[in-house]
Amino acid sequence: MQVWGGVDFGGTTIKLGLVTRQGRVIARTTLATRQHADPDAFARGVASALHRLSRAHRARLLGVGVGAPGLIDTTRGCIHRLTNVPGGWRGVRLGALLERRVRCRCVLDNDVNAVALGEWSFGAGRGTRHSVYVTLGTGVGGGIVLNGRLVRGAIGSAGEVGHMAMALNGPRCACGRLGCLEAFVSTAAILRRARRAMRQGARVLRSLAERAGGLTPEVVARAAVAGDQAARGIWREVGDALGRGLANIVNLLNPERIVIGGGVGKAWRLFAPQMRASLRAHAFEAPAKAVSVVRSQLGDRAGIIGAAVLAWEQRRHGGMP
Ligand SMILES: [Zn+2]
Repeated sequence: MQVWGGVDFGGTTIKLGLVTRQGRVIARTTLATRQHADPDAFARGVASALHRLSRAHRARLLGVGVGAPGLIDTTRGCIHRLTNVPGGWRGVRLGALLERRVRCRCVLDNDVNAVALGEWSFGAGRGTRHSVYVTLGTGVGGGIVLNGRLVRGAIGSAGEVGHMAMALNGPRCACGRLGCLEAFVSTAAILRRARRAMRQGARVLRSLAERAGGLTPEVVARAAVAGDQAARGIWREVGDALGRGLANIVNLLNPERIVIGGGVGKAWRLFAPQMRASLRAHAFEAPAKAVSVVRSQLGDRAGIIGAAVLAWEQRRHGGMP
């Protein structure tokens, strides 16, 4: 059987697996990032795990894709900067380093770009030519597929939808700037609003947070489902800001589909109605009617599948994808 390796390089874990050309993950495993937190240890650990899985499944590895969290120079196959991963990775040609160990072509790209490509190929973006993926969580990221190709831009940084400037004097974003979309809809933004609501007496929210041993977006979602008005209001605000952000994307790119993923995306039912209303209110009518906004489908396999797609896309296009 012919397979591609997909490697989803995260701040806590490295998820990797073998993926068929039909997008099926036939085997997967996880490595702890802190035990592979320098380039050599990463390449050694990933290569040995991929070889072990290939042998166990009598599969032939044709190529490997790696999605890494940060700014990637895809023309040179090297890391410009990683987020949430300690150690010296700057300037490391991770693709080439891994290639020497796995003995097949290795491609490196941004992790959210990989997921965007995975959802477009085998998930919620399937069947479209123009699709945008947006992930909601600790950070807010995105990946753009236009005319069936990933859009990377001049230096590989395209798709940073979380840092679209939404408000002139908005809340402070994790990137240091004011009023980014992320500052309105990220985990931190939701928790900031929830803490304020608890100070103002949101009782259901407070008791659920105490029972759960802390405040998380899931707790805010449960409080909203249980009828807590403040919690419901928080999700409406998330939907409102997100809808405005999506309206910018719709006006700028005219996609057929927008796929929403990430941990916060799981509260879909709570923010989607307001998100759709806000999108309709802020985007031009024709492109707003032409776009469908849907939930991601691949779950935690998305990073592995998307990274594998990176590998065979490059093969198909005979150069950097
Ligand atoms: Zn920002």
